[in-house]
Amino acid sequence: MNLHVANCPSCGAIYHINLRKLCVTCSSELDHRIQRCNDYLWRYPLTTTKELQDAVGVTEGEIITFIKQGKIPKVYKNLTYPCESCHGPIRDGRLCRSCKGSFQQVSQQLEAQLARLQPAGTYKTATRRGW
Ligand SMILES: [Zn+2]
Ligand SMILES: [Zn+2]
Repeated sequence: MNLHVANCPSCGAIYHINLRKLCVTCSSELDHRIQRCNDYLWRYPLTTTKELQDAVGVTEGEIITFIKQGKIPKVYKNLTYPCESCHGPIRDGRLCRSCKGSFQQVSQQLEAQLARLQPAGTYKTATRRGW
């Protein structure tokens, strides 16, 4: 029995597990979609995410994944996706600048509050940083 095979998460075909976790067919189709996106953006740099979906035939989720994985450069200013908190347009990370700011504020307030609540010496809870 070969332990290095699995069902492709995209099409279900049996394939040899690789770094991309996709079978050869899906992997090359993915490359083609990325290529088409980049070709289109090269010609029309002001394309919005919605326009790119319609023009190239990829889903918004895929475009977002491509951007996050660095497959599509972050230089196209209209190629945005929604902030996970307020759904405002962003081009980097998961949160927009203002949400990042307010989350930082909230977590700082929370930390301060926790520090006050816990009697000295028992404050061992690991504080979560790096929003
Ligand atoms: Zn596949
Ligand atoms: Zn936001």
